[in-house]
Amino acid sequence: MPDVVSLIRVKRDNLRPLTDREIAWLFAAYAGGEVADEQMAALLMAIYHHGLDPAELRAWTGEMIASGERLDLSGLGRPTVDKHSTGGVGDKVSLVLAPLVASCGAAVPMLSGRGLGHTGGTLDKLESIPGWRASLGNDELLAALAEAGAVIAAAGSGLAPADRRLYALRDVTGTVESIPLIASSIMSKKIAEGTGALVLDVKTGSGAFMADQEDAVRLATVMAGLGAEHGVRTRALVTRMDAPLGRAVGNALEVAEAVAALSGEGPADLMEITLALARHMLDLAGLDADPERAIASGRALNAYRKMIRAQGGDPDAPLPRAGHCQTALAAPRDGYVARLDALAVGVAAWRLGAGRARKEDGVSHTAGVRCLAKPGDRVRAGEPVLELHADDSGRFAAAVEALDGALTVTGEPPALPPLIVTQVGA
Ligand code: URA
Repeated sequence: MPDVVSLIRVKRDNLRPLTDREIAWLFAAYAGGEVADEQMAALLMAIYHHGLDPAELRAWTGEMIASGERLDLSGLGRPTVDKHSTGGVGDKVSLVLAPLVASCGAAVPMLSGRGLGHTGGTLDKLESIPGWRASLGNDELLAALAEAGAVIAAAGSGLAPADRRLYALRDVTGTVESIPLIASSIMSKKIAEGTGALVLDVKTGSGAFMADQEDAVRLATVMAGLGAEHGVRTRALVTRMDAPLGRAVGNALEVAEAVAALSGEGPADLMEITLALARHMLDLAGLDADPERAIASGRALNAYRKMIRAQGGDPDAPLPRAGHCQTALAAPRDGYVARLDALAVGVAAWRLGAGRARKEDGVSHTAGVRCLAKPGDRVRAGEPVLELHADDSGRFAAAVEALDGALTVTGEPPALPPLIVTQVGA
């Protein structure tokens, strides 16, 4: 019978990989209360330093999945495919993509979390729609999926409950930033959700969780491998997150931009990423459909309206608007925006009230930032590049402070790097 202190020492001193049996014992003992949080935290720190080898990672992820239920979506009669993004500033892709891919014939079971820090959460965005509910029981979820073809809902407590406990522990012990722990956390939830195929959008750049491109490619590769090992066809795109995606950052502002995108009026960068992800999802689902045509015909917007209604929302209700608005970040010269730092804009939106500092906090539905100019756009000296929205005008000063140094304007048009860096997996 293993004992936890010995297992901690094995990982602390990097003596050998843990066996499948030891990992199974560890998860059972943690669930049963024989392994305490402080012991698990010590082990997580050892893993943070020394990692998990492929066999350990497979067993670790398998135990996370087995800690809860695995949804059975086989009765839907359509291929299932989902997308997960590691999160970015202005990343409202899910809101456009789920109904878009559903309108092309797939079922999209998108179970999601809430935002923490400077990147917004999809559920927080959708909750700015009057009446819309994030929490659905399993039967409701299946019914909404059968009716609308797409559902974006809160992951229930039955899915990978071990991850819920481990993530909370990692959050307060400085052990979030570990590629094997991130990969097993994300993939255990996606595999347990029951999707047949998965496309990952792993962001890299200043506004991303994985700022370094090599780390992002490594994370993408590890996640794609885990998906394949657990029977989910998985492909990952690594995409740049140096500037906000689209022009809107903040909950209701992003919903409005997503609706515009579904109506054929989306900003170019948002459409490039969304259409690329949609094509990969349709390919993995074995569907031959053209997502651009689905938007042009109005089918994608119809699917969005159905999806919102199936969860109690009113797609025709006006979105809430902030009580206060002011412009910020004046161009220092005539020229072209060469850089608009995603992290700074994300932090500004967060300080305006769009995001939360602790997971118990609420968010403002209306606060956020609109980008009046983006990299590549021409500006005149003195012209503001951002518009800040807040319910409380007392929040503007801290937001403006976050924007210090966020803008570069050059005399020549900048050479912008491609948004899609690489692709790994199936
Ligand atoms: N998101 C998750 O779900 N888990 C992590 O570990 C990091 C981001």
